[in-house]
Amino acid sequence: MEEVGTGLLDRLDAMQRVAASAPGGPMLIVAGPGTGKTRTLTHRIAYLCAELGVFPEQCLAITFTRRAAEELRQRLDGLLGPVAEDITVSTFHALGLAILRDNAAAVGLSPEFRIAEEAERLAVAAEVSGLGEAASERDVRRALADVAGSDAYGKALRARDLVDLDELVSLPVSLLTTSPSLADEYRARWRWIFVDEYQDVDPVQYALLRLLCPPDGNLYAIGDPDQAIYSFRGAEVSFFLRFASDFTDARMVRLTRNYRSSAPILATACQAIAPTTLVPGRRLDPARVDPEAPQVVLYSAPSVADEADFVVRTIDELVGGVSHRSLDSGRVDSRSTPDGGLSFSDIAVLYRTDAQAAAIVDALSRAGIPVQKRSHDRLLDRPGVAALAREVRFATGLSGSLAARVRLVGQVLAARCDQPALDDTDHGLRPEDVHMAVDLLTPLALRCGDDLERFLRELATGAEVDALDPRADRVALLTLHAAKGLEFPVVFLVGCEDGLLPLRHPGAELSDDDIAEERRLFFVGLTRAQDRLYLSHTRKRFRHGSEREMAPSPFLSSIDPGLLERRGGDAPRKPRDRQLRLL
Ligand code: ATP
Ligand code: MG
Repeated sequence: MEEVGTGLLDRLDAMQRVAASAPGGPMLIVAGPGTGKTRTLTHRIAYLCAELGVFPEQCLAITFTRRAAEELRQRLDGLLGPVAEDITVSTFHALGLAILRDNAAAVGLSPEFRIAEEAERLAVAAEVSGLGEAASERDVRRALADVAGSDAYGKALRARDLVDLDELVSLPVSLLTTSPSLADEYRARWRWIFVDEYQDVDPVQYALLRLLCPPDGNLYAIGDPDQAIYSFRGAEVSFFLRFASDFTDARMVRLTRNYRSSAPILATACQAIAPTTLVPGRRLDPARVDPEAPQVVLYSAPSVADEADFVVRTIDELVGGVSHRSLDSGRVDSRSTPDGGLSFSDIAVLYRTDAQAAAIVDALSRAGIPVQKRSHDRLLDRPGVAALAREVRFATGLSGSLAARVRLVGQVLAARCDQPALDDTDHGLRPEDVHMAVDLLTPLALRCGDDLERFLRELATGAEVDALDPRADRVALLTLHAAKGLEFPVVFLVGCEDGLLPLRHPGAELSDDDIAEERRLFFVGLTRAQDRLYLSHTRKRFRHGSEREMAPSPFLSSIDPGLLERRGGDAPRKPRDRQLRLL
């Protein structure tokens, strides 16, 4: 535990200290990547509790991923010690779930209600739409898309003591709207509310916040409009932009000093976002000055295989000693390298779409480099995870730790998938799906100790990236969405091509807003890097059923060529007219 007292804010710079020690009332912190938003948030909470006599149980900190919540909780433990346990740190989903648990009867549920599994959602949709048993799975899926969110669907779920994952925030919103006295109780309980990544709030989450926090309440919202990347899930950056009109006498603090990235990386990122920045007068000043800092590398690859090879070769060079391993000795622990080079956990490979991961995973695995691959998708959306979770829940007779049970049940399930004729309940499930599920659920199980209920709850509301273990000595393979909020000494951003960044599906025209959001995603990717950043693009790629010529991403042309060290192939061609129009 750190010393509490005047020293508490010593590790913040002047502006961060202003932001952390401000009096109550609505407050917006507008700050670019790596400026210490998350650091300021934790110190703010610690300062309130340790210096101003705020009770930890009156504090509610909301983040977007379970992983981020976990990190916040650890940092608060470090600053405040055991009293930090009384602070509620939660994702929106988990918060909604907690409110529902407290008020189950009021929404027609028993205290033991569960979140519906995919099979249950489909069964309920079929029932509500009057589909008979003979209906095909496609038909049923279409019915689900039609009825999800309707009153009839909700009623049928409730009759089975279930809620849909998508209702975890909307149900509490309805409950608190129809019961103002209940809303008052929550307002009295959480007098101090903090939201990280506020730029990604969606209308339902926003409605919940409004119910939990009066217009002049102590809402501390932190974010960066230029990192708003979730509009495809309904997030609206406009909530951030109109904070001052939503909340009474809202104050605003800006943080502009970037502590994360080297000066060349920061300059590259700033140029990349400049054409569509949502922050007037945006500034990001490097706190780090190192004249030796390496330039950002732009690698042009003839093919996807060559791009993957470039990643492997470069990792080999960076993680000194790896090249001496013997391939048949299997995986290597890079931390054991004698020359103190980088370790695998310092490295991330980022990409726009999950489909791009396969070539990279293949190449890294062949080279004996351990990986952990995570997307931003929900855990339950993976078929292997749903099946494994079901088996773990019913395998109560097994002894041993929860993590051991996950592994054991996984082995049995994988073996069964190899003999589908014996069991058709997990039809279509492949052993590798199960292995992936074990890989995802083991860190979760370890975190939950032996608390099966907590494990199931986290699993039901979690995303794949929640299962990222920052301590594991493996290279992280992440979608750009999953990488938000994280930082790594070395970052590869692969597939910087028109059609992937910005992502374009065949026949679909992109609006200016779509392109701006893709550019923000590019910006998020660039700003994850601390010391070394490698961008790459391939000139040919298999997409939409055939091999295509790929042009470099138009976003690259916003970057001063002098900032980039070009490697491999010819310099990227000038963007064609069509791409220029997209800018
Ligand atoms: P993002 O927008 O990507 O979420 P952020 O603004 O939340 O970024 P943090 O993750 O809080 O940034 O901080 C980025 C890095 O800078 C961290 O490694 C953090 O420890 C470091 N840092 C922040 N503030 C300071 C400071 N005053 N002195 C030294 N290091 C700092
Ligand atoms: Mg952050």
